[in-house]
Amino acid sequence: MDKYDVAIVGGGIAGLTAALYAVKAGKKTIVIEKLDRMGGRAMTNKKKGAYFNLGGHALYFGDAYETFRELGLSLKGKKPSIAGYGIWKGKLNTMPLGVKSLFSTPLLSWKGKMELAAWFTKLGNLDTHQYDQLSLREWVEGNLHDPMVRNLFYALLRTASYVVAPDLQAAGPVLNQLKNSLKGVMYLDRGWGTLVDELWEKASDHGVHFLTRNKVVSIEHQNGNVQYVKCKDGTKIEARNIVLATPPAIAYELVPHAEATLLHTWKAQAIEITAACLDVALRRLLKPKQQFVYGIDQTVFLTNQSRAACLSDDGNQVISVIKYQGKETDADKDLLELQKTLDLVQPGWRNELVTQQYLPKITVCHDFMHTKRQVNPGPDVPEIKGLYVAGDWVTHGELLVDAATASAKRAIEHILSQERKERNSKNEHRDIV
Ligand SMILES: Cc1cc2nc3c(=O)[nH]c(=O)nc-3n(C[C@H](O)[C@H](O)[C@H](O)COP(=O)(O)OP(=O)(O)OC[C@H]3O[C@@H](n4cnc5c(N)ncnc54)[C@H](O)[C@@H]3O)c2cc1C
Repeated sequence: MDKYDVAIVGGGIAGLTAALYAVKAGKKTIVIEKLDRMGGRAMTNKKKGAYFNLGGHALYFGDAYETFRELGLSLKGKKPSIAGYGIWKGKLNTMPLGVKSLFSTPLLSWKGKMELAAWFTKLGNLDTHQYDQLSLREWVEGNLHDPMVRNLFYALLRTASYVVAPDLQAAGPVLNQLKNSLKGVMYLDRGWGTLVDELWEKASDHGVHFLTRNKVVSIEHQNGNVQYVKCKDGTKIEARNIVLATPPAIAYELVPHAEATLLHTWKAQAIEITAACLDVALRRLLKPKQQFVYGIDQTVFLTNQSRAACLSDDGNQVISVIKYQGKETDADKDLLELQKTLDLVQPGWRNELVTQQYLPKITVCHDFMHTKRQVNPGPDVPEIKGLYVAGDWVTHGELLVDAATASAKRAIEHILSQERKERNSKNEHRDIV
């Protein structure tokens, strides 16, 4: 059996980020991934020259962006324009996202425009943590007066988080995400697969070992210490520290007697966020001005990512349409709603269709900050020394991929700080002796 300092289960963004931080700290590191490629939900599929992410992906200027920059990733792509529309009562209306559109939109009364403008100004310096314990609905109803300003905030906050649960969602973290989005977002050339490839390559260059097409089946531990990772093909990988960069239910399944650990609480409290995603590559746009659309009275969103990023080898336009799902989902009904959205925004799009991808129900995030949460997960599983968790559900306030990178760094920092503590206590012991 090879012995590693850090073994990471799962090669998504969280696993790859953890691997790079560990190897850069001098740790002998391995990543074990069940598929034949890295990236998890950040992978990109190429179809007829078009690069489709698993649904539209925007990189916010938050923790992930800072982390990728620090790791030296090239992050090629651009900020899209935010000039857009809002769907209200089946019609497209100018979305008030800038000074000009705020004054020209028919969606708001004069009083509403003043209220929205005041909030956009205030948001930049808002201490959003003061609202961490409030539900989004409590925040909206306690702070916004105009009914249409409330509708617009719900639409913006839904898009920033993919969550349609205002009574459950904690207001502070999502307001912080909206605050971040005021700086814009980035769409990446050739999709998020490029950033996955760069992370993978950098990790390999630094000496991380990768084991692909090998499903981990259990994490063996004894007397409260991790021992080794057991794979489906029988391989055993001994490690001092193991990071589970998998969904919470899988982390729970992999660990014998997990019911006696906090993994049980983390799994039980997790609320999954899902979406239906229709991505299309069109030869041309039929309504070139209509490229960015929020649903206001519908939980949909449309964006032509090609307006900022190169997402096709043939100059085709790659448009993502998303349906934010609640508890009840219906694959056929959701597809119809997404197609209808395209009919409204790009009428005649079917005649220009090159290829498409439909994901009826994909997990966007395995958990988020909500009012029913008992405790924030990770970084360590306190009952088993050397066992850690990372992933977008291991959030301490961050959203989406920002939670994946932030939790990965927390896990590695914890490993390093434990080692420092152990070294110091050994030294103290030696001094006394
Ligand atoms: C439709 C959609 C839209 C999104 N939009 C955005 C966006 O606009 N902005 C944003 O910031 N984020 C967005 N996200 C979220 C972002 O993609 C995720 O937060 C991020 O990719 C999660 O990374 P992860 O490493 O935590 O998990 P994953 O990507 O799920 O990685 C887990 C990995 O573990 C592997 N694995 C699981 N079990 C085992 C096992 N037993 N053995 C070995 N390997 C195993 C899996 O194969 C996978 O590779 C979106 C996600 C979706 C689906």
